[in-house]
Amino acid sequence: MTIKEKLQARFQTEFGAEPAFIARAPGRVNLIGEHTDYNDGFVLPLAIDRAAWIALRPRVDSRVRVISLDMADEQVFDLADLPRPDAVRWIDYIIGVAWALRRGGYAPAGWEGVLAGDVPIGSGLSSSAALELAAARAFYCVSDFDWDATRMAQIGRAAENEWLGIQTGIMDQMISAAGVAGRALLIDCRSLECSPAPLPAETSVVILDTATRRGLVGSAYNERRAQCEAAARHFGIAALRDIDLATFAERATELEPLIRRRARHVISENERTLQAQDAMLADDAEALGRLMIASHTSLRDDFEVSSPALDAIVDCANADPGCYGARMTGAGFGGCAVALARAEAAADFARRVGAAYEAATGNKPVLYATHASAGASTIG
Ligand code: ADP
Ligand code: MG
Repeated sequence: MTIKEKLQARFQTEFGAEPAFIARAPGRVNLIGEHTDYNDGFVLPLAIDRAAWIALRPRVDSRVRVISLDMADEQVFDLADLPRPDAVRWIDYIIGVAWALRRGGYAPAGWEGVLAGDVPIGSGLSSSAALELAAARAFYCVSDFDWDATRMAQIGRAAENEWLGIQTGIMDQMISAAGVAGRALLIDCRSLECSPAPLPAETSVVILDTATRRGLVGSAYNERRAQCEAAARHFGIAALRDIDLATFAERATELEPLIRRRARHVISENERTLQAQDAMLADDAEALGRLMIASHTSLRDDFEVSSPALDAIVDCANADPGCYGARMTGAGFGGCAVALARAEAAADFARRVGAAYEAATGNKPVLYATHASAGASTIG
């Protein structure tokens, strides 16, 4: 059964009817541009063919009732009296979206439905943004407001940052809202302007899940953000986006070595991301692959957010003849890497890298090719 069929079946048993709407919003994988979003920089993700789905119908009152198939749980809340979270539960992402919508001047209406998804949770593919944008789309289905992808991304981010207190950049919500089928998206995280970029011909994007998860991501993330802000303050600029590599090279020694390395990652990564867009527009898979490899080295050595498992799987991928380039993706410390592989060899590539990684680490990885899908949408 597909997720859609599972949702429809459960909706039928629960509500004795067909859902009025099915909303979906995808997870994402970032090809390049890591830890640049909160520095007002550039990212180049694609929305993947895995998503959060909500089958729903409107309610006459102001309540929202949701059954989560993945969590085997049911929750209800009233839009007129949103309960503040003390710990972050899955329903709090939806409550947070309702809160951010109201604060943004929208009037979200009540609904009831069933939620399920196939974005692996906590692996760096942003199941949380998928859930936020699916929730925003569900409210859009039953309420009277227009869908603006950028505004909805900001709503999702506000839910996560301000309602739940989890710090993230805008990348995840932006790509989940505005993804384009068959394309990656260069996103300027300052202006939120998006430019679709085609994947090189005859290539396949392969997700390499190390099967490791790290707990302390949040504190390391906040520390990296603070270090980037310190560097920007030193240069008297709003964000590290505002200094180019040449100027930085002249002044780098003004910074203490650790802050210098953090800044060098962000500044060089912004440049690599713009070069990656050029490579994609020129259909140059080799160049894109080289930039991805350089990105990983910078994340590993200068930004120090990789892990032994991520390094191992990236090394296995980069040693394979079917690979143009591979790197860790997402915040780091565990979770997934991404590879650009030769399309005709992608299945063999995944098999070989999986075996090599397992032999090297003892972990059983999960590897699969993905396709660029469209952003949040409604079916039916
Ligand atoms: P990720 O890296 O996947 O975004 P997060 O820790 O940021 O990981 O978000 C994961 C959380 O989002 C889960 O713990 C859960 O609360 C919520 N979530 C994501 N997907 C689903 C889903 N399909 N059903 C219910 N809750 C989900
Ligand atoms: Mg998340």
